[in-house]
Amino acid sequence: LLSKLRDPSLAIDKALVAGQWVSKGENGRTFDVTNPSTGELVATLPDLSRADAARAIDAAYKAQKVWAKRTAKERASILRKLYDLMVANADDLATILTIEMGKPLAEAKGEILYGASYVEWFAEEAKRVYGDTIPGHQPDKRIIVLKQPIGVVAAITPWNFPNAMLARKFAPAVAAGCAIVSKPAAETPLSALSLALLAERAGLPASIFSVVTSRDSASIGKEFTENEKVRKLTFTGSTGVGKILMRQGAEQIMKLGLELGGNAPFIVFDDADVDAAVEGAMISKYRNNGQTCVCANRLYVQAGIYDLFATKLAEKVSTIKVGDGFEPGVSAGPLITEKAVAKVEEHIADALQKGAKVEIGGKPDAKGGLFFQPTILTDVTSDMKVAREETFGPVAPLFRFETEEEVIEMANDTEFGLASYFYSKDVSKIFRVAEELEYGMVGINTGLISTEVAPFGGIKQSGQGREGSKYGIEDYVEIKYLCFSI
Ligand code: ADP
Repeated sequence: LLSKLRDPSLAIDKALVAGQWVSKGENGRTFDVTNPSTGELVATLPDLSRADAARAIDAAYKAQKVWAKRTAKERASILRKLYDLMVANADDLATILTIEMGKPLAEAKGEILYGASYVEWFAEEAKRVYGDTIPGHQPDKRIIVLKQPIGVVAAITPWNFPNAMLARKFAPAVAAGCAIVSKPAAETPLSALSLALLAERAGLPASIFSVVTSRDSASIGKEFTENEKVRKLTFTGSTGVGKILMRQGAEQIMKLGLELGGNAPFIVFDDADVDAAVEGAMISKYRNNGQTCVCANRLYVQAGIYDLFATKLAEKVSTIKVGDGFEPGVSAGPLITEKAVAKVEEHIADALQKGAKVEIGGKPDAKGGLFFQPTILTDVTSDMKVAREETFGPVAPLFRFETEEEVIEMANDTEFGLASYFYSKDVSKIFRVAEELEYGMVGINTGLISTEVAPFGGIKQSGQGREGSKYGIEDYVEIKYLCFSI
């Protein structure tokens, strides 16, 4: 790894706890991070315990009080410096990301710039956390509304976007005047550590940002939810773990930001521009090898264009080059773990057994390891696992539908409500369908909806709270109202 970096100091094998870079925690244990493309060892990191997390929280608690007293402009200028450092070091950060996570280098660089865009955005928003004055309810009363930082925030993040998922929690928290103690996924902690190092170089005071590396996520999650110095937990990951954390946090009525699983429908109506829909499906389905929570999980194609869409999509899918993210021209890396491969295989087997057909792919890639062929299934029906569960892999199941009413009912028939997409040129239909879809986000004639300027988040069991946009910082402040009698 080090030989690939312009600045080798960005590859870190220590955790950042309470302002100290530590090689070992209380229990003295370590764990290995491996490259999913090659299986090679990338780094050995401290396997921290609950006691280490508590230390980080204590230090954050003290440091936050001072941080909150800085002017918004001072906080903003540190975030702005961090943004500049992320951009200046984007190639190295992308290399670290590809080594630990596997996504193609160009996509990794895209993620770094996407993560950086949240840091830039919240550097700007830091200065615009406005309150209110409200006309008094009695002649002698004056009312003022303040917004104050919530305090210490704990963050738990997943492996699929090791930089951006943390950056978009870290940035609004720190902008608002909070301190943040994070636990990155054990598969991909290096990206979080290099972000923390750059934050330190940008001038962020000690203990405002800790990165607790650990394989024992359950124990760290307990400390994060049970420690009363933590006032908010922000989590991106599966709905199952989100429920555990919500239950644990209930004891102290913890504020929660949850970005959980999705089961995104991608609907193509007969009147759609088919080529544009195919383009959108490629991005929405196969980006990050199908491992994003907003990836199209169910593709509903109207009967009139079903066969044409399937043929055109298969043509494009056949051009995807699977391989090591560092190889030129590769557009799909490996899946993250054996477990992920097993889930993809299980979903395909279940669909085939219930009558679906393979249009293209369907098998582990000839390269072996964690590589899987980009796949399209046709004749897919609602009784198959691909209809109900998030596959989180490169499988596009194509469902056939006849009417608008029917497809909306199928699209909404899930406990999830994160992203949805549809293609049509009919303005009335566009408004009808957009309003009917029970999702936090709707992509209309586009397969790519993530941007720092818009509120990212879900409804139903896909979570609560929003990340990015003017709404994003609201998740990190408390409202306090002052009632004056004059
Ligand atoms: P994924 O399928 O993306 O791995 P998870 O929800 O399992 O989704 O993981 C997302 C994050 O949650 C990771 O950082 C993981 O270590 C952490 N995690 C998993 N189980 C728990 C738990 N019981 N408590 C707290 N964090 C957890």
